[in-house]
Amino acid sequence: MTASPRTVAVGGELPYQIHIGPGLLAEADLLTRAIRGRHVLLASDDTVAPLYLARVQEALQAARPELKIGQYIIPAGEASKTLDNFGGAINALAALGATRDACVLALGGGVVGDLAGFAAACWMRGVDCVQLPTTLLAMVDSSVGGKTAVDIAQGKNLVGAFHPPRAVIADTSALRTLPVRELRAGLAEVIKYGAIRDPLFFQWLQAERAALLAGDDVALAQAIARSCEHKAEIVERDPLEKGERALLNLGHTFGHAIETAQGYGAPGNDNLNHGEAVAVGMVLAARLSAALGMAPAADTETLRDLLLAYGLPVAIPAGLAPEALLAHMRLDKKNIAGRLRLVLWRGIGKAEVVPDVDEAAVLDVLRLG
Ligand code: NAD
Ligand code: MG
Repeated sequence: MTASPRTVAVGGELPYQIHIGPGLLAEADLLTRAIRGRHVLLASDDTVAPLYLARVQEALQAARPELKIGQYIIPAGEASKTLDNFGGAINALAALGATRDACVLALGGGVVGDLAGFAAACWMRGVDCVQLPTTLLAMVDSSVGGKTAVDIAQGKNLVGAFHPPRAVIADTSALRTLPVRELRAGLAEVIKYGAIRDPLFFQWLQAERAALLAGDDVALAQAIARSCEHKAEIVERDPLEKGERALLNLGHTFGHAIETAQGYGAPGNDNLNHGEAVAVGMVLAARLSAALGMAPAADTETLRDLLLAYGLPVAIPAGLAPEALLAHMRLDKKNIAGRLRLVLWRGIGKAEVVPDVDEAAVLDVLRLG
């Protein structure tokens, strides 16, 4: 059985639609509908481009021969989400002669989406960006909600902008070439939605593990749609993260600290990727919640068991000093007035932002690993 296409609407001041289904990257109608002008910059990475770029470009060019299409390809991996490559994307837009009605198509995972989205946010103070996510993580998280950014040495995503996409087109067929480790990383973010606000979805994820890990089309499409509905509901109400949007960051302050401490997954080493770091981070957040008396310790175990069953890591990698991780956590964007502000939970399905968390309690949890 193949999944039929579905659409999730994101409301708010700049509404857009998320299209989810097999084969969508070759659907000229869907692609061209989002393009207003003549200039298109196709941004991708050197793993995704050879797999999917030609079909997008050919579909566009056949439907709209007048389009001037440029390409900007970065090396795959988090290490490419830099100010230098942001500059490269801007130069590519300049070389294309892109006018204010130009469109940046971000074809790839969250790295391409964040970088290309940020370039779109800045070129001529903002041109359209259409997200064409090709990783599960990008389909359920990074392509939706308009956050764009690049990393600097001091931390992840420290330079960026809010710039909602004009559309999101998630071709679930692209997941067939995704390495299973990346699929699992995306599933960590899917599990996150269950953990923060949807106990029934959490149970569904317990039941559907085998189908999801096997890459079953129907199960994956359902997981993507449900995740996008959750994200849409939250970002619609709180687009600029003044309140409840922060809940989407369960596990992320710990996770980002791990990613920063290990130096953003240089290709070819054993560093955790983003989804894996978030999996560890969620366990740490749950454990801290239990230590602070906010949540039952049994829920930490239930979450840990589910992440383990999905083949995700649940402990801090060896060699990362607790004090160094804490130092990175102090630079998190959620912090206010130098106090640690964390997303913790009351148990499965009930996340909560906690201002001013005691650093000693955090350090205890980091020491336990
Ligand atoms: P990624 O973009 O690095 O992709 C992971 C790997 O998979 C890369 O090597 C890529 O080349 C490869 N790949 C992508 N699609 C493929 C496919 N279909 N077949 C084969 N290989 C494929 O990483 P990611 O996990 O997609 O995204 C992580 C990034 O997203 C991080 O930088 C994170 O900060 C960011 N992010 C942003 C938001 C947001 O709201 N903007 C939310 C979550 C994460
Ligand atoms: Mg994330």
